Amino acid sequence: MLWGIDLGGTKIEGVVLKSAENPEVMVRKRIPTEQEQGYEHILSQINKLIKMMSKEVGTTAEKIGIGTPGTLDPKTQTLKNSNTTCYNGQPFKADLEEIIKMPINIANDANCFALAEAKMGVVKSQKIDAEVVFGIIMGTGVGGGLVVNGKIINGRHGIGGEWGHNFLDESGGKCYCGKIGCVETVISGPFTQQYYTSLTGQDKHLKEIVDLHEANKDKNATKTINRLTHFFGKAISVVIDIVDPDVVVIGGGVGNIDYLYTDGVKAAQKFVFNDSLETVFLKPELGDSAGVFGAAMLVAD
Ligand SMILES: [Zn+2]
Repeated sequence: MLWGIDLGGTKIEGVVLKSAENPEVMVRKRIPTEQEQGYEHILSQINKLIKMMSKEVGTTAEKIGIGTPGTLDPKTQTLKNSNTTCYNGQPFKADLEEIIKMPINIANDANCFALAEAKMGVVKSQKIDAEVVFGIIMGTGVGGGLVVNGKIINGRHGIGGEWGHNFLDESGGKCYCGKIGCVETVISGPFTQQYYTSLTGQDKHLKEIVDLHEANKDKNATKTINRLTHFFGKAISVVIDIVDPDVVVIGGGVGNIDYLYTDGVKAAQKFVFNDSLETVFLKPELGDSAGVFGAAMLVAD
């Protein structure tokens, strides 16, 4: 059986899958993270959840995959780049292994998303021969995960696939990471809405802006969506030129926007170092489950 836990800001979710070949859900449970009570408390919540799952499935795990909001630094063995800042700098892997008395495999949420969609989700159902899969989460932030032949590419610094903080355009301004013009500051949901506000002085939800563009009713909405698809294309073309994925899976709230798959792909075509673009762009299939399924897949072999 494969055990996985997805550590979120408000909830911790656990799943036990029958096997990698037959990922039937044996148990699925969630409890609140209660992160306001601090790091130690979160560790004890994870321990509590694992005990609840063991009781239900009638056996204990030998190893658990954990999806975290941050990345484990291969050198310092501490978590970094997490927007839930209480994890940053903590030796999370060692601390948790000591409490739960078993080894864990860790990957960040975007890597888990990419792995789950590659092995159990839309890639498996629609493009099973894909070798290189790039999974994107475009929402409040922008993240990415690279899966090659069913394995996450973590890289030397543990930042493999971290597309959201690639340089894209100065117009994005300063990012929380300290750099200027990151992909995230140009095409995330909040920054796209902010761009619309800068044109109109009005705050509107991204969905509304998309609808106004679709109805051809608001030239600033059109300008905002055209900007989004242009920069999406430009940003993803860099990934395509380097790892040349068979499939790009676009998750997250912004990833639902159909224009990414039409105008966004057309824009990418302009920037890619090839006359044609055969990369397949797919919508994810697993929804909210991708994080926890991907965590379980971390212990698949
Ligand atoms: Zn950044």
